[in-house]
Amino acid sequence: MTVALVLTARGAGLAERLGLKALPLEEMEGRFEAGEPVVAVMAAGIAIRRLAPLLADKREEPPVVAVAEDGSAVVPLLGGHRGANRLARRIARTLGVKAAVTTASDVLFGVALDDPRPGWTLANPEMAKSVMASLIAGEPVRLEVEAGDTRWLAPLPWSDEGRLAVRVSDRSLAPKEDELLLHPPSLVLGVGLERGASSDLLLDHVARTLEAEGLARASLAAVATLDLKGDEPAVAALELPLRLFDAAALGRIEVPNPSPAVAAAVGTASVAEAAALAAAGEGAVLAVQKQIGTRVTCAVARIAPPKGRLTVAGVGPGAPAMRTAEVEAAIAGAADIVGYGPYLDLVADLTGMKRCHPLPIGKEKERTDLALRLAREGKDVVLLASGDAGVYALAGLALERSNGAVPVTVLPGITAMQAASAKAGAPLGHDFSVISLSDLLTPLEVVRARVEAAAAADFVIAFYNPASKERRQPLEEALEILARHRDPDTPVVRARNLGRADELVAVETLAGLDREAVDMTTVLIVGNSRTTIVGDRVVTPRGYSS
Ligand code: SAH
Repeated sequence: MTVALVLTARGAGLAERLGLKALPLEEMEGRFEAGEPVVAVMAAGIAIRRLAPLLADKREEPPVVAVAEDGSAVVPLLGGHRGANRLARRIARTLGVKAAVTTASDVLFGVALDDPRPGWTLANPEMAKSVMASLIAGEPVRLEVEAGDTRWLAPLPWSDEGRLAVRVSDRSLAPKEDELLLHPPSLVLGVGLERGASSDLLLDHVARTLEAEGLARASLAAVATLDLKGDEPAVAALELPLRLFDAAALGRIEVPNPSPAVAAAVGTASVAEAAALAAAGEGAVLAVQKQIGTRVTCAVARIAPPKGRLTVAGVGPGAPAMRTAEVEAAIAGAADIVGYGPYLDLVADLTGMKRCHPLPIGKEKERTDLALRLAREGKDVVLLASGDAGVYALAGLALERSNGAVPVTVLPGITAMQAASAKAGAPLGHDFSVISLSDLLTPLEVVRARVEAAAAADFVIAFYNPASKERRQPLEEALEILARHRDPDTPVVRARNLGRADELVAVETLAGLDREAVDMTTVLIVGNSRTTIVGDRVVTPRGYSS
């Protein structure tokens, strides 16, 4: 029981406000040594001096929180990760103040490995400190997930490589050196038993089954059975949270090993398997099918990891004002953001402390696969593209490579051509085509043929990837083709670095285009035979009859 130690009547009043029993200062040592959480309503120094001589093993000692008598300050003093931070936050909420949490990991990440979520256990707690210290120091630590809902671990800065690792597994493994092993509450034990079957029989059968199957007892989140068996002492002896189902509910669950004899006796063909699956919820699978022992049966279901999802979002050409609200919301809500480094910079105002995964340009497959992997692990992931994610970008690749394993959503963005068009006026007012001049992924003959066709059909043409330092020829050829079909005075919009600091939008002509200035940060829009200049703006009339 949490108790409050007080010095004065004022302190006692505060303890009452917190709903805690107020005890005199003299009882502090005794309570602390009995392992009771201590709330010291007094100056921190008084509590520190009294407890200092008793401090021995921080893994054994109860949490200690100091609270100012006037309720203005709450400081977890000892056992921050053994409940003091949580207790302090709860008290602080009641008092309407902020808890002065000082443990490094909480301050940095809001998560501490030695203070896991309820139901989680550390197989080798002695490793927690060094792993946490490495994370705080910015050293690479891997996260290897086999099972469980690991979303609470998402704020930690995991790396894809590194010597140290945190493994999350519901198997009973011997932790490797350099590895912290966490057991998630990811298994549900289903049991069936004859009335009055002894606790020893059940405990022994369960222990043997888990051992034979290499599963960790610590990962059992609950035991499930038929409602009629809920009061069996053997079930209580398992000391697990109990989930009960009636025969009708169990009868609806499909199982691999139904039994007519069981059906005749209790009205459902499966108890152990069906109860385990029912309690483990949607998507659960049997990790262990029905194991028959003496008077008892058991099965184990594995809870499905939470479903992650991937959102492929185009952030527009650069300026925050050109991002859609939907894209901003997706980025703000995601746990992980994957993208080419400069794209991540474009959304730095939204990502804060989020886990960003910058990857170099050209590594499209790697970027996509990393995003998909994170989503498969249950994360809410955003894969960033510039402009629109579906225009010469990653959306198609993400859909192809996901193979339906995770839901993929594509969000539209303002593509470079639209930004260029709006800045220059309205050059896209009539039918247009869009051609990438990069011959990296498309043979040059195909590019040529498309330019020829679009030019002949009098389409307005937007050119993406128009030229890089080395790759100038496709642009030269495209201009030659256009010269055969269009007037040398045809307006051309040359837009560079749209939405970025050195944005430039120049209106030139087919003959007068500054070809040397065209680079990979440029998009070109070549007018059709009707495109004109109105003032300083480019306009393609809406129709041919006007
Ligand atoms: N998905 C992006 C296009 C990627 S292909 C989009 O929808 O905009 C890359 C090409 O897009 C560049 O070579 C350039 O032609 C064009 N581009 C992208 N961003 C641009 C910007 N801010 N200014 C001008 N052109 C840009």
